[in-house]
Amino acid sequence: MLTHDHETAWQQFLEFMEERCSSTEFQNWLAPIRVTPDEGGLLTLEVPNIFVREYLLDNYKKELASFLPMKPSGEPAFQFVIAEPKKPSAPAAAATAENPADAAEAPGQPELKLNAFYTFSGFIEGPANQFVRSAALGVATRPGKSYNPLFIHGGVGLGKTHLLHAIGHHVRQHHKRLRIQCITTEAFINELVDSLKNKSVDKMKRFYRSLDVLLVDDIQFLQSRLNFEEEFCHMFETLIHQNKQIVVTSDKPPGALKLSERMVARMEWGLVAHVGIPDLETRVAILQHKAEQKGLRLPSQMAFFIAEHIFHNVRQLEGALNRLSAYCRLMGMEVTEEAVEKTLSELFQRTPQKRVSVDSILSSVATIFGVRVSDLRGNSRTKGVAFPRQVAMYLAKELISSDSVVKLASSFGGKTHSTFLHAWNKVRKQAEVDETLRRQIQMARRNLEE
Ligand code: ADP
Ligand code: MG
Repeated sequence: MLTHDHETAWQQFLEFMEERCSSTEFQNWLAPIRVTPDEGGLLTLEVPNIFVREYLLDNYKKELASFLPMKPSGEPAFQFVIAEPKKPSAPAAAATAENPADAAEAPGQPELKLNAFYTFSGFIEGPANQFVRSAALGVATRPGKSYNPLFIHGGVGLGKTHLLHAIGHHVRQHHKRLRIQCITTEAFINELVDSLKNKSVDKMKRFYRSLDVLLVDDIQFLQSRLNFEEEFCHMFETLIHQNKQIVVTSDKPPGALKLSERMVARMEWGLVAHVGIPDLETRVAILQHKAEQKGLRLPSQMAFFIAEHIFHNVRQLEGALNRLSAYCRLMGMEVTEEAVEKTLSELFQRTPQKRVSVDSILSSVATIFGVRVSDLRGNSRTKGVAFPRQVAMYLAKELISSDSVVKLASSFGGKTHSTFLHAWNKVRKQAEVDETLRRQIQMARRNLEE
């Protein structure tokens, strides 16, 4: 039985949440949830898919507990049910069969060109892409029934096309009767131009409007072909009104696209999800996965080494791996540090560095250790000065690779090359066991490199 209390509690929770999350988040995750009647008097939340339940429990358990009944163990004392589809989906494939005119134009399934490697199982998850991956999987699992459109945006080479194709593979495999098409915006526009020339626009429109799932890559391309925007907009509206799933990728969020307000609003109707730059661990996992696909043995130390130096996007990471793999095959050698250096050093990305000088190191170390620069330059052997001086030498060797050790040593008041190296080695070893020293060095590095 649905009690009045349950509904009120849920309404209060929604009001509370509406003020605390963005409207996209609220509309996509919370608004579709319904409180439904239940025989046992238990509160039941009807969610559109399993992701919504997980999302709610992962992110808002504490908030839920303040409004809804919880067991002493902290687990919800209410249940979730997954909503049944509103109407049995009438895939357009079936409609096509009943409609000989359409069937003649699009016999069977449209040809779907997908990259065979771009699957969900080949997509490595990490904090920067977890949300977008689960949104994509949600859409692929229940096309047209979760969020529509799904708008995926992020920088180049971060996996947008991969996810789009993964949705395509999943739908093809699990919803065989759905008509699906995956197309780049550029290809769509070219097709439209051709059909205008051949006076077959109606046929093309009928084709696109008969789809159940439309995957559109790189919508930003529409910005340079604005005269096609209206056609796009119509097609989107028609499909979305029929609960047909649309997924769009873009290199920027909807609001940053130079498109009409109407088009931007359509893009924001559903869920807008961002793909970020994967963190180090994810980049390592991606490298290891891709190496395995290629049958390349990549020691994890080498994977870390590459991932530490190539961090802007995954495509570059993959390019590096291809190069390394080709080199090692050709030379008949294993992946070693030498092979990595040889093939990849020019690809390695360095954060642009300010040129660090001995003077700047001395003044940074003097500040951190509370000594005077002139003391560091001098010959005093008191520990309070000698040790910071050694730290400065260590930093000079680490940060100024352009000068020889002899030259660096001489710039510390004419120290010998062996005194200099001794200092470097001592500080390096001590930093391995001395947390405070490590922090001081980090602080100095940050000051110098910023
Ligand atoms: P975008 O469309 O965002 O420019 P792509 O989808 O073409 O990027 O991805 C570039 C390459 O990086 C592809 O080969 C893709 O398989 C790979 N890639 C990106 N992200 C991941 C990931 N999380 N896991 C595995 N491979 C990835
Ligand atoms: Mg792409």
